[in-house]
Amino acid sequence: MENRIIIGNMKMYMNISDIKYYLNDIEGKITNNVILAPTSIYIPYFLDKNYNIAIQNVYYEENGPYTGEISVSQIKNMGIDYVIIGHSERRKYFFETDNDIFKKVIKSLNNNLKVIICIGEENNINKLEVLQKQLKILSNIDNKYQDNIIIAYEPVWAIGTGVIPSNDDISNTTDYIKKYVLNKFNLNLKVIYGGSINEDNISLLVKIDNIDGFMIGGSCTKSDKFLKIISIINEFDK
Ligand code: PEP
Repeated sequence: MENRIIIGNMKMYMNISDIKYYLNDIEGKITNNVILAPTSIYIPYFLDKNYNIAIQNVYYEENGPYTGEISVSQIKNMGIDYVIIGHSERRKYFFETDNDIFKKVIKSLNNNLKVIICIGEENNINKLEVLQKQLKILSNIDNKYQDNIIIAYEPVWAIGTGVIPSNDDISNTTDYIKKYVLNKFNLNLKVIYGGSINEDNISLLVKIDNIDGFMIGGSCTKSDKFLKIISIINEFDK
């Protein structure tokens, strides 16, 4: 099996001394299928070590008076290849709309960045309608970009809660998303799962064979836990 994608979303965790210990701990142990998404100000430390890097957000304007924002060309010029767009925490705390997300996706793809688009329902009511609505942003995307798009399926109720869907649920939803984007938008996309993954439950989650990878939040900020998760995934996929 091709090695699955593993994304470590470090959110706004860790300070500079944690980062230095962390970098030391992971040195030489991060495989090529891993993408690290540190808090933006720490990204240069990770780039120095040649890791695959994702930034946790982007702004869609080219440049100008947008205090606090970071543009696609600034990201690209730094040597960052991936951008996470539409994380549920951005939708919730920063009021990002599907339209904002659409603009960020288009701008990023047009500038050769790879996008990790997060979608997920808040509860089980109308789950498929919610996912369809979030996926609508893909309606005008040319399929020449399909290899640069990863869908991160992250049920909001599973993020940071310790509660995760069953393997069957994740597999069925993944199948639904893949077929939906193929039939509706002619896009053949990779879908990864995220939400409360840890070093204990990953042994079960790796058995979901239609999942193309995993996004790990809280557990990626502890180097020992994250390295264990990576090794369980890679070992299973050998
Ligand atoms: C996330 O927020 O992308 C995530 C996967 O978080 P956690 O693993 O902490 O649930």
